[in-house]
Amino acid sequence: MKSEKSPSKLLEVKKAQEIIFSNFSKLDSIDMPLIDSQNFVLSKDIVAPFDLPEKDNSAMDGFAVKHEDIIDKKITELEVIGRVGAENKSEIFLNTGQAIRIMTGGEIPKGADSVIPFENTDSGPMRGLDYPKKVTINAPVNLGDNIRKAGLDYKKDSLVLRAGALLTPPVLGVIASFGISNASVIRKPVISVISTGNEVVMPGDDRKPGQIYDSNSFIISSAIKEAGGAVNLLNIVGDRKEDIESAILSCRTSDLIISIGGVSKGDFDLIKDVLLEKGEINFWGINMKPGKPLAFGSLNLEGGNVFQIGLPGNPVSAYVCFELFVRPIILKMKGFQEIMRRKIKARVTEDIVNYDGRRMYTRVKILERDNEFIAQIYNNQNSNILSSLVFADGLAICPEDCKVVKSGNELEVILLRG
Ligand code: AMP
Ligand code: MG
Repeated sequence: MKSEKSPSKLLEVKKAQEIIFSNFSKLDSIDMPLIDSQNFVLSKDIVAPFDLPEKDNSAMDGFAVKHEDIIDKKITELEVIGRVGAENKSEIFLNTGQAIRIMTGGEIPKGADSVIPFENTDSGPMRGLDYPKKVTINAPVNLGDNIRKAGLDYKKDSLVLRAGALLTPPVLGVIASFGISNASVIRKPVISVISTGNEVVMPGDDRKPGQIYDSNSFIISSAIKEAGGAVNLLNIVGDRKEDIESAILSCRTSDLIISIGGVSKGDFDLIKDVLLEKGEINFWGINMKPGKPLAFGSLNLEGGNVFQIGLPGNPVSAYVCFELFVRPIILKMKGFQEIMRRKIKARVTEDIVNYDGRRMYTRVKILERDNEFIAQIYNNQNSNILSSLVFADGLAICPEDCKVVKSGNELEVILLRG
């Protein structure tokens, strides 16, 4: 990685994303119980060990019959020679003039080729061991009706799921149907989170005058978990270089270190100093609003190389930067193909002014009206305004070269949910 110790120019967002994303790749594979594997990415193909369904079976509660016995006849009386539940293997052979009671999922007996549902007969559910030995069919069905053929869902030896598939609830159901109880998946990245600042204290701890409670640790840690990462949350670190260094050193086995705060141009902003001393800064400063003073670098921690992203301390800046630069690499490390949030076009409800030439991420709420999207703009877009984040479900992108976006014009919006 090239060291840029005193960057003079702000990087464009796209370039910053390219640099950060290119330094991360899919992590290694682990085995885990299938029940815990939701939202992981499969790391090995799954081939069907048997047909699904395994046997031809009944789609209805009713009677397995020979179609030739009922064809063209309005009413047929058949001899009932047995009963098959969903759990039974059919041992009986059906001859002409015979029927077998069969329940949904029961294996179709040899000799039968159609199933008549109870509704088309004079029979219905029977409790206990006994059942009538005759049945009257009063409406025929077509040949093969109500039979679910073996292998109709998945054929033995066919490719069921490719490595790279996301383990959604239905996908877990398919894997379980083959009796597989463990899944090979790409593991979660472990991400260390370090909040910095002399003024910052944990909720629940004593607070001196002038101190504020730490909101960033909560926003960023939960956003990491939501994206599927594992969080290693450290104690808050004051603005002292040695303390920041020792906190960072304790994270040397992490897949990524995220520090929050102390990355701007203030007297006590020491993150860049630590990065320079312990490693290299790749870049510092992005041409965006909020979130300009983001730093990206790599640390050499007793032999291990760990990347660090220094998020700005203002909560809105930290969160917007998380969305643009951190969430995608969590997904990339987890093996996702699609790592970016969905974007839509929406009409803004007010003018947006953007005179300082930075790419602006405006907090908006998306409404659907007359088949188009409307972006309602929050009334305070400052980088410390937490209520703007609570309000927003989207970030409307006002390009760097666009000084005014007039009310009613369309902008691209990054959707923050779903
Ligand atoms: P900094 O980037 O450290 O200069 O911080 C910028 C602003 O964000 C300051 O007003 C800080 O007090 C505030 N801030 C920094 N860290 C946090 C935090 N963890 N929670 C809430 N506000 C913070
Ligand atoms: Mg600070």
